Amino acid sequence: MGDQAQQTSSLFPTYARYPISLVKGKGSWLWDDQGNKYLDFMCGLAVTNLGHAPEKVSAKLKEQIDELWHVSNLFQIPNQEKAAALLTANTCADAVFFCNSGAEANEAAIKLARRYHQKVKKTGRFEIITFYQSFHGRTLATLTATGQDKVKEGFLPLPTGFKSVPLHDLDALKAAISKDTAAIMIEMILAEGGVLTVQADFLKAVKELCDEHGLLLIVDEVQTGMGRTGKLFAHEHYGIEPDIFTAAKGIASGFPAGAMLGKGYLREAFSAGSHGSTFGGTPLATSVMIATIETILEDKLPERAAEMGAYLVQQLNEKVATNPFVIEVRGKGLLIGIECQDAVGDIVSAGQKRGLLFVTAGPNVIRLLPNLYVSKEEIDQAVSILAELIHEHTAVKKA
Ligand SMILES: *Cc1c(COP(=O)(O)O)cnc(C)c1O
Repeated sequence: MGDQAQQTSSLFPTYARYPISLVKGKGSWLWDDQGNKYLDFMCGLAVTNLGHAPEKVSAKLKEQIDELWHVSNLFQIPNQEKAAALLTANTCADAVFFCNSGAEANEAAIKLARRYHQKVKKTGRFEIITFYQSFHGRTLATLTATGQDKVKEGFLPLPTGFKSVPLHDLDALKAAISKDTAAIMIEMILAEGGVLTVQADFLKAVKELCDEHGLLLIVDEVQTGMGRTGKLFAHEHYGIEPDIFTAAKGIASGFPAGAMLGKGYLREAFSAGSHGSTFGGTPLATSVMIATIETILEDKLPERAAEMGAYLVQQLNEKVATNPFVIEVRGKGLLIGIECQDAVGDIVSAGQKRGLLFVTAGPNVIRLLPNLYVSKEEIDQAVSILAELIHEHTAVKKA
């Protein structure tokens, strides 16, 4: 029976949930069980990049549901081959491993980096260097990799072999590299950490350090990937090729899926039985993934994200950043942060009452993640609500 007499929910309380129950979604819009309508500028946290219930993807999902959902990875899975081929044809990667989430994709990247050094290079290296304010997931290895203490509290002992250094501090990074270092793992925009864009000259220096010391460069594209920042993957903005990068969130429009992508020379590090996942790359998941990736490419959604993102930033700078409460508008494409003087949690709640959904990125940063088909009219609507919300918030504070 449990202790339900004292509890209102049978769930573990791992989320502070808003008092809203969303029951339907289409494009940029969501409806709750009271019939209220919301403009969605968070997209399940960069997941529903094609909007809610995108037609082409939905059609493919329905078709596949009556064909085949799951077979073991012990068999040939043509959809999986096709999804991987689509990814390798459109990125610098040559090989793909499919899994079910961002954390699993990063876990696979960490395992591949260690295994490459230990089995192929025979160096025995194992350590992964990451950056403060990064976010890499919630498994024991990926939360250890994450450069934020709050996700580690109460989970000791943590696995060994991880080190974090301040972002953009090249001396600290150089000092952290040792004979045990296997890889450097970095996001192109530290999204959870406050929408902090990595500087181009810093990334260039990181890549040079990797080449000089024989380290693998792992780019975590779980949030930045799938067109969101104006390129299919955000590392393309920098003209560098990571050895490994990861994707999840937007990869299948909301169907749970993840991928770890790597260069061809890493193939030999994994052999049959060295890594796996029961649900990774099922016929159903990969059919949704194929439809998502094809739609992103056919509809030129990265270009659209770049264009609409520029319009969003321009509108924010004109109508929101004029308020002294706002310090800076930043980001790339449709991954935008508005850094404010003070905590913004109340503004998120006030926004929900006005029919606009968005999230924070750390205490003082408002994060906007509309879908990649978002229209100028929808952007105008969101910006006008945001301007009012911030105006009201600062007026209340003064009173
Ligand atoms: C969300 C996120 C993850 C974790 O993804 P899950 O699917 O929740 O495991 C990892 N890295 C980054 C950059 C993310 O934004």
